[in-house]
Amino acid sequence: QQEATPPKPPPKAPGSPPLPRQNSKTTPPSPPKIITDKSGRLQFSRVGFLGEGGFARVYEVQDVRGARLACKVVTKSSLKTKKAKTKLYAEIKIHRSLQHPNIVNFQECFEDSDNVYMTLELCPSGSLMDMLRRRRRFTEPEARFFMVQLIGACHYMHTHQVIHRDLKLGNLFLDANMNVKVGDFGLAALIENPGERKKTICGTPNYIAPEVDTWSIGVILYTLVVGRPPFQTKDVKAIYKQVLLYLYLDRANESSRRIRDNEYEFPTERVISSAVQHLISQILTPVPSQRPTLHEIVDHAFFTQGPVPSYIPTSAHDAAPDFG
Ligand code: ADP
Repeated sequence: QQEATPPKPPPKAPGSPPLPRQNSKTTPPSPPKIITDKSGRLQFSRVGFLGEGGFARVYEVQDVRGARLACKVVTKSSLKTKKAKTKLYAEIKIHRSLQHPNIVNFQECFEDSDNVYMTLELCPSGSLMDMLRRRRRFTEPEARFFMVQLIGACHYMHTHQVIHRDLKLGNLFLDANMNVKVGDFGLAALIENPGERKKTICGTPNYIAPEVDTWSIGVILYTLVVGRPPFQTKDVKAIYKQVLLYLYLDRANESSRRIRDNEYEFPTERVISSAVQHLISQILTPVPSQRPTLHEIVDHAFFTQGPVPSYIPTSAHDAAPDFG
């Protein structure tokens, strides 16, 4: 089936200045101070603002017993198209099906006349991205601790047919005990066999295999120990697009060539163990089928021949812990 070509945008008037981005986005009104479902069975009081993402705002709320939770709010006015609704329903269906100590726990989903609400386990300590900004980079024992938890969550997802597709430091939240909690299932998809290629809700063919998450695990490991990402590309999707363009359409650019040729560098001014460098190079193989499995990753010398701390002190938010 051929999709209709989208109409070309009208030509811009010469010299017309680009509109500032925030002008095109109207800020929706805050949700009520007391959030309830239609039956009144559920009741939460809004106590603070946690952050906002592509299409949701996230608040801290308290339930009637005083327990603190995060509440993701999506305004119904942003759900006018069938595509937007399908995308949200997919996120809810996938996220609520997962229960693992290293995945943000999904609690309730309900609506009132203006919004759809999702209550989630509260991660009050921000994301690994926030922590990296303060710390600049992590020690290799810390990297092992966070990676073991991330890989455990990822293995659980994959055995439940879920690919996250957007694993990055900003989506790895921390609980009060410094445990990793994978969040934001907005791009997650169910694993499909290559035989049953289907159109997804976004119109792209959906035969992306779990190896897409393995690639992200390699990028995350590099970023934790080096302090910056290996390829200066915004997200996995962009990287894949570039690799595909390079391999199939002969429309290469410098960034896609670097990924294909596995060209990234480790800084030389400080010691980065040869074990972690070897593991990263094994994971960041552009050909998905050549990447190690999650089991092979945790069996690598980086994990088996170096200390994995049993916990990380909260002081690690600001300074490298001394594991003695
Ligand atoms: P979107 O799907 O729209 O990108 P996210 O799920 O990424 O939204 O959430 C947006 C922001 O809200 C995050 O960057 C984070 O700051 C905050 N946030 C999301 N979930 C939680 C949570 N469970 N606990 C604490 N803060 C959260």
